[in-house]
Amino acid sequence: KRAEFIKIKNVPAITKDGHSVAMLMNAGLEFDLEIMHETGAEGIGLFRTEFQFMVSEDLPRLKRQTELYERVMDEAVDKPVTFRTLDLGGDKILPYMETEREENPALGWRAVRMGLDRPALLRMQIRALIIAARGRELRIMFPMVASIDEFRQAREWVDVEMAWAKRRGRALPSVLRVGVMIECPSLLWHLDALLPMVDFASVGTNDLTQYLFAADRTNPRVAERYDVLSPPMLRALSSIRQAADESGTPVSVCGEMAGKPLEAFVLVALGFNRLSMPPAGIGQVKRMILSCDREAASKAITRMMTSSYSSLRSEILSLARKLNV
Ligand code: PEP
Ligand code: MG
Repeated sequence: KRAEFIKIKNVPAITKDGHSVAMLMNAGLEFDLEIMHETGAEGIGLFRTEFQFMVSEDLPRLKRQTELYERVMDEAVDKPVTFRTLDLGGDKILPYMETEREENPALGWRAVRMGLDRPALLRMQIRALIIAARGRELRIMFPMVASIDEFRQAREWVDVEMAWAKRRGRALPSVLRVGVMIECPSLLWHLDALLPMVDFASVGTNDLTQYLFAADRTNPRVAERYDVLSPPMLRALSSIRQAADESGTPVSVCGEMAGKPLEAFVLVALGFNRLSMPPAGIGQVKRMILSCDREAASKAITRMMTSSYSSLRSEILSLARKLNV
């Protein structure tokens, strides 16, 4: 299999009926960039900036953050990198940062909530990204946004920092794109207002599933209740795809499901054409895409969405076999 994956490394991911899918990679450390070139990924669809904070003994300040982002963009050369702002809190606690113990950390003070309440932290990171980009495209994405006001406020800090860079006569990014992660179910019913405000969106299916089913993504006792191949999840994804088409917003999927062949098959069938995944998923997902007839898959998956089964895993598996995927 490995030999086969190496053979298709530079082959574009296009379905049998001609739909192309951008294959992107999730990363978080500088070392991952080397892997990106090995896998043939077309860019980094999710750079988890909190990793630098988690492996550090103290708070990385402006200089260290800028240095990392600069090296990442240097090493990516002309491939796009989407930097997600800090997604701390929840289960990601820093020993050097004081936080209160929370009853429900996954529902608590985390990610962009922390950034908006501690603007100095958020602004420092945005400033580091702007300085690091210097004449290159900069893509910034906010995690765990639950309301459009949160996105608005976060985006305002980007404007404030851009104005700062301009005043200082710094080289600005050639293009600036500000995006949102769709991982709080509340957004599903406000996409018509949200999507026109963003330059791009990425679906975080790990958290979206966790919050949709109220089932902890890390707890094996409820793992079966956390079902990405279920009618509710497929309908959620389908409504995101539809809203994105209506507003003309580019949308990717960056949760773990994008890196698993059967789950990615469903995403492609639903019309998602940008997938960002762990490096180990790239070869197998690309092989699936090359063998997939999207129109046929799409028709069958659309029918399944109204099924009265809780889980569609075995139906989807049979469908994939029937279509020789
Ligand atoms: C997600 O929630 O799907 C996601 C990609 O973000 P993380 O796994 O870092 O929470
Ligand atoms: Mg998440």
